[in-house]
Amino acid sequence: MIYLEPDNRFTPVCHVCGSQARKVHSQDVRTIRDLTLALVVVRLVCWFRKVYCTKCAQIVVEGLEFVRPYQRVTLRLAQYIHELCKMLTVAEAAEHLGLDWKTVKNIDKVFLEGAICVVTEFSYSASNISTFEEVIMARSSSRSE
Ligand SMILES: [Zn+2]
Repeated sequence: MIYLEPDNRFTPVCHVCGSQARKVHSQDVRTIRDLTLALVVVRLVCWFRKVYCTKCAQIVVEGLEFVRPYQRVTLRLAQYIHELCKMLTVAEAAEHLGLDWKTVKNIDKVFLEGAICVVTEFSYSASNISTFEEVIMARSSSRSE
């Protein structure tokens, strides 16, 4: 498990229109599956903000560059699933990844419909979240005071 928390140095953006949202409504947490590392299933425990977007005039989930709103897999895992489905059946891809076949089918379908652009390069560098190490460091330094 890798724990991710919002970095409050960055203003969250609305996932619908992309505008900066100054007012944070609440926070929630979601476990998101990422690419497997060697034989280890990687799960991100991701805290994210719900914001009030004045342009959309509603409460929305903040936009994160590595996962689509309300999804339980990262974009790069979704892309990997789509690539697997070019070579394997949906059932075989699902078994390979330990995912439900309906999940795999739906992810592949979204790619086939062109709703997701192919991610050619993935980067956490511009992400507005802290890594697990930063969170641990922040917590340990606050405890030692
Ligand atoms: Zn908006």
